[in-house]
Amino acid sequence: MELEQINALSMEELLTKCEAVCLDFNFTTVREWKAENPGQKAMGFLPTYVPRELIHAAGMLPVGVLGADDSLEIVRGDACFQSYICHLPRSVVELGMTGRLDCIDGMLFPSTCDVIRNLSGIWKMQFPDKLSLYFDAPQNFDMDIGGKFYRVVLDEIWAHMLKLNGSTATNDDLLASIALYNLNRRLCAEVYDMRAARPWVATASEVYILMRAGMLLPVEQHNVYLARYLELAEAETKAGNRREMDNARVVISGSFCEQPPLALVRTLERAGCYVVEDDYMMITRWLGCGVPVEGDALHNLVQSYMDYKGESAAKFVPDGCKKGTELIGRIGSTNAEGVLFSAPSFCDPALLDQPMLQEALDRVGISHTAFKYSENTGQLQPIRERAGTFADTIKLWGEA
Ligand code: SF4
Repeated sequence: MELEQINALSMEELLTKCEAVCLDFNFTTVREWKAENPGQKAMGFLPTYVPRELIHAAGMLPVGVLGADDSLEIVRGDACFQSYICHLPRSVVELGMTGRLDCIDGMLFPSTCDVIRNLSGIWKMQFPDKLSLYFDAPQNFDMDIGGKFYRVVLDEIWAHMLKLNGSTATNDDLLASIALYNLNRRLCAEVYDMRAARPWVATASEVYILMRAGMLLPVEQHNVYLARYLELAEAETKAGNRREMDNARVVISGSFCEQPPLALVRTLERAGCYVVEDDYMMITRWLGCGVPVEGDALHNLVQSYMDYKGESAAKFVPDGCKKGTELIGRIGSTNAEGVLFSAPSFCDPALLDQPMLQEALDRVGISHTAFKYSENTGQLQPIRERAGTFADTIKLWGEA
């Protein structure tokens, strides 16, 4: 869609468009982008973080492959994995083996967990002709150790990106891409800030589809969608169409990789929860919006990665209390009243961190409850009952 056309969309049109983009598991936007940019490639990536700037600067389209929902029947994907792991790798294999991802020319598999490591191996065997890279992000955040290692990783990926697209992009091109993604992260932060301050103005489900659409749209377009959404949300509020309700303000924790179905996010809203903070699609926040845009671009990406203070189960922290302290800090900064631990079934990283986080909340008397989901969860009534009871008890007695 042309940028001027996005700026003319009504709120309803904008949300309908974004929802259609993020629920399209045939990746039509990617196919259209390739038709408009003949010869240019598309590079897929899995959650949680990859440096999209490297893909963009090489002239390619970064494409978030976040799995699917219950509209995709899993047949081949189940044949590749045991039953006691999460759902995401099954749907990714299914998308690949049914040809839905044939518009993707390569894949980046971040070192989020063993499941994704195994998936990268299966992908290589199934699609030997496509570029498949394991993105081994460091778990040591000392610039002299993890930083040096990460620089080698980024040098290699940059070389692969240039080769795949036959690009001669330079350091200046990479700096320009960093500037575009800084803007994207700043606009995302503005949307999240608006939701934290007035969650009835920027609602959880709207923010979710807006961010999820950004995993597939070109960043230039997504930036315009974000700016238009901010403008329209204010206009709707001024017109009296968005009013505050007596809902419980909650933080979502544990959903950083396999994403929940959109219906689950809507269910939480209907259960009386205002989601004021979440860890969905953390790539929209990773690094922050101030990556330097002068000097050695790869060094800037390395330094910003080392300095980034956001915590998640995808990150190893030797001090077991640090993640709890960080979560409590986010609860404070968003004026939240409780935490919904919402992890994908069988997600080892999320479920290993959860008891430590719960213990930290118990120590300071912050309410919490937990449920699990899969990206294809269709039966949402038990989650609605749990979240609704949690919200009610917070509103009635101030704690759950
Ligand atoms: S949902 Fe959890 S277990 Fe599954 S791939 Fe992601 S991080 Fe790994």
